[in-house]
Amino acid sequence: MKYLSTRGGPLGADGFTDVLLGGLAPDGGLVMPAQIARLTPAELERWRPLAYPDLAFEVLSRFATDIPEPALRALVRASYTEQVFGSADITPLTMLDDSLGLLHLSNGPTLAFKDVAMQLLGHLFEWVLAQRGQQLNILGATSGDTGSAAEYAMRARQGVRVFMLSPDGRMSAFQRAQMYSLMDENIHNISVRGVFDDCQDMVKAVSADAAFKRRHAIGAVNSINGARIVAQVVYYFKGYFAATTDNAQQVSFAVPSGNFGNVLAGHIARMMGLPIARLVVATNENNVLDEFIRTGLYRVRRASETHATSSPSMDISKASNFERFVYDLVGRDTKRVASLWQELATRGEFDLSGEAAFGRVALFGMVSGSSTHQMRLDTIRDIHRRHGLLVDPHTADGLTVASRYRDPGVPMICLETAQPAKFADTIHEALGIVPPMPAGLAHLAEATQRYTLMPASVPMLKSLIASVCSATAAG
Ligand SMILES: *Cc1c(COP(=O)(O)O)cnc(C)c1O
Repeated sequence: MKYLSTRGGPLGADGFTDVLLGGLAPDGGLVMPAQIARLTPAELERWRPLAYPDLAFEVLSRFATDIPEPALRALVRASYTEQVFGSADITPLTMLDDSLGLLHLSNGPTLAFKDVAMQLLGHLFEWVLAQRGQQLNILGATSGDTGSAAEYAMRARQGVRVFMLSPDGRMSAFQRAQMYSLMDENIHNISVRGVFDDCQDMVKAVSADAAFKRRHAIGAVNSINGARIVAQVVYYFKGYFAATTDNAQQVSFAVPSGNFGNVLAGHIARMMGLPIARLVVATNENNVLDEFIRTGLYRVRRASETHATSSPSMDISKASNFERFVYDLVGRDTKRVASLWQELATRGEFDLSGEAAFGRVALFGMVSGSSTHQMRLDTIRDIHRRHGLLVDPHTADGLTVASRYRDPGVPMICLETAQPAKFADTIHEALGIVPPMPAGLAHLAEATQRYTLMPASVPMLKSLIASVCSATAAG
């Protein structure tokens, strides 16, 4: 399988393992597989009984054709274990009634769905770097979820170091404890005196220094990583098979969305022939995506227009994976994608309403809605009262919007993207109770923490990276 840029420029290296280690395409576009093959009915039938790791192997082997099959099989088996994800199903499905299901994606080490893709990435990175005899220093900024998922996936992996910047005093106590208690030698937490944007600016500044970047082999695992998207395709198949008995049936998925990575994986699963009726894009008050799907206008928000909500992992001003979907909407016309993003850069918006491209949104089964804090509280209460279940505020966004798009006879599966324990304040506000901490994490709060505190200084960050690299190389 070859990969290409949504803006049509050359990629240089264009295999899956290159996409895995690379970031943006050189022309600023995102990387997509050159084609997405539809499964035959016989293939879909053969996949139905497969256990999660075997299903992951089948999906991945269509995209990662440059990894030998025995190696790929070993990597998915090492990634998707009962020990790491708490059950052999990895992403178990709970049906709340005959047609509403919750697909639990948040049973991994950091209690959010990003673990599902990131755990595989950790193993893939280690394998590819060993093959190439390379080292990689992953540099990232986090406001919580992505950074911790990356650290838990990369801890103790050979050939990889992680330098993760987070805003000092601005993460929850739980998030802080989770990241800063990691004592693995290859994990470096850097607490920056500033806000998340300062952290991100520092990462951008270091990455913009091409010589430094090359000398220290700086890489990233941000939300535009194409390999993460492929890994997320797997659980759409898993959820579909769990909710149906026959491949003639359809299901819909509701997806709490921010950077559009998760629901894009659903779109790819649908292009592969998975019988998905609707893909429900659920946003919170930051409704950039909902606005586009309803009206055709894509208008990125300024930082000052971005709301801090009770589902913070969906607080985005623009959706970094959205370009991949627009690429399909415009019929894979890379010139058109390039000109739309040019327009976005100059005007901050583009409008596809009235165009054939916008009509494809409905053909792709995509619908949307947004929710408010009050709606999330109501949904958390309602699910608790009727089903005795606690759901986190992100999943509550999904369930709120899902309720507007139920079709008779079509199961609606909402993706559970985080554990309620991670967002205890909102659960307490809704129900007056504190959600229980999953087993094994209760003592996290008392664990010793280790991190480097620094001002928002690019030279200090560079010198820290350089000194860690030379110390480990020497020692
Ligand atoms: C990252 C995240 C999301 C948003 O997912 P995208 O792939 O960015 O759309 C939703 N919920 C939780 C809990 C997350 O961590």
